[in-house]
Amino acid sequence: MEEMVPKLFGTSGIRGKIDEEITLNLIMDIGMAAATYIGGEDRKIVIGYDTRTSNKMIENAIIAGIVKCGTDVICLGMVPTPLVGYAAMKLRADLGIMITASHNPPEYNGIKLWNPTGMAYTRDQERTIEKIVHDKSFQVASWENIGNIKDNDGIVHQYMEDLLNNVKIKGNLRIIVDCANGAGSYISPMVLRKTGCEVITLNCQPDGYFPGRMPEPSPANLRELMNVVKATGADLGIAHDGDADRMVAIDDNGIMADFDKLLALVSSKIGGKIVTTVDASFSVDKSMEKVGGEVIRTKVGDVHVAEVIVESNASFGGEPSGTWLHPDFCMCPDGILSALKIIEIVEKNGPLSRLLDEIPSYPTIREKIKCENIQKTLIMEKVKEELPDYFDNVSDVNFIDGVRISMEDGSWVLIRPSGTEAYIRITLEGKNMETAERIRDISRRFIEGIL
Ligand code: MG
Repeated sequence: MEEMVPKLFGTSGIRGKIDEEITLNLIMDIGMAAATYIGGEDRKIVIGYDTRTSNKMIENAIIAGIVKCGTDVICLGMVPTPLVGYAAMKLRADLGIMITASHNPPEYNGIKLWNPTGMAYTRDQERTIEKIVHDKSFQVASWENIGNIKDNDGIVHQYMEDLLNNVKIKGNLRIIVDCANGAGSYISPMVLRKTGCEVITLNCQPDGYFPGRMPEPSPANLRELMNVVKATGADLGIAHDGDADRMVAIDDNGIMADFDKLLALVSSKIGGKIVTTVDASFSVDKSMEKVGGEVIRTKVGDVHVAEVIVESNASFGGEPSGTWLHPDFCMCPDGILSALKIIEIVEKNGPLSRLLDEIPSYPTIREKIKCENIQKTLIMEKVKEELPDYFDNVSDVNFIDGVRISMEDGSWVLIRPSGTEAYIRITLEGKNMETAERIRDISRRFIEGIL
């Protein structure tokens, strides 16, 4: 029997609290494992980090591990995650490493790995790294072959120029941008200003204590941004998470745009074939129908979206969380390019509040039921086998991620076990509120009945 290799990577890289899950020994091992995985000597890795207090400490530890295996390092410094994906691609590196805990609180940090195409490491690739760490099967180099370490601060200019070449913006809007004192702090406002738009910044001084607001772009954390948009009569507010691979928008009334509606809006403007996750709203399909586009559904998680974009040659992909991929540019989710796309759409067709009003919307309910990890498998088996029979107009049942039951009138319910917490999640959408509540009650009662 094969020995159990402990799991280090979660749904978005390795993440944890400093000195608890994230120790310097582990980080150095990850550096050696990553360098070994890509072939050791004559290879190169680009590295960036966000604004957390532990950023350079982690960078130094991972670099020590990498150069020990004979691999060269190019340091990008404090940059948003999408710049690491872009730099891995443009500098023809063998790997990109971003040191970030994205939207987690300040005591966290983590590591996310990127392929030379800018695409996140797949689960299989992560498994291989985990195995090298577990077996300590590092290929270390002798003293005369230790890797060298260089800085690169030129790529950021190429990145900004390329971003701006990807959109056509006249510069007629007033925009408020809130970077949470995170990794987007310098670059995002700089790029937005280069469009000619008037840009007012909020929380754009890099600070690992996140004094302005916590890095999760949730409605509670964005209250100040909403107020500033309203008070200044701005056309648009943009907020990033801690590493700026995500973006959310505030409309001209100072109201946070619904995640699904915003995704539906941008998808329909890009058109063609787009990829989204099984938990995204039916409004995406409805909006794409209007422009004759096609929607492909995948598992939750940006790497799954990326994989399906490549397989199906799609023009765009996004999750309702505001993680959007623009494959023409790079396979790494990019919150700054996403902001530019929204600015382009609003400038041409706006205001944003009206554009969002035009998107069909359906009542959505998201709930979670407490469930011990050990019970999850049994619950999911019963859901798969029996729950569809409780509805009388089922048109499709799929198992892409959890169990998703679609009804003939467009309503649907998705049941998935949480990957990180002791919950079963129910996400559903109904043709109207009455239908939504009925679907919710049936699903809830069924699961609670087993528990
Ligand atoms: Mg992020």
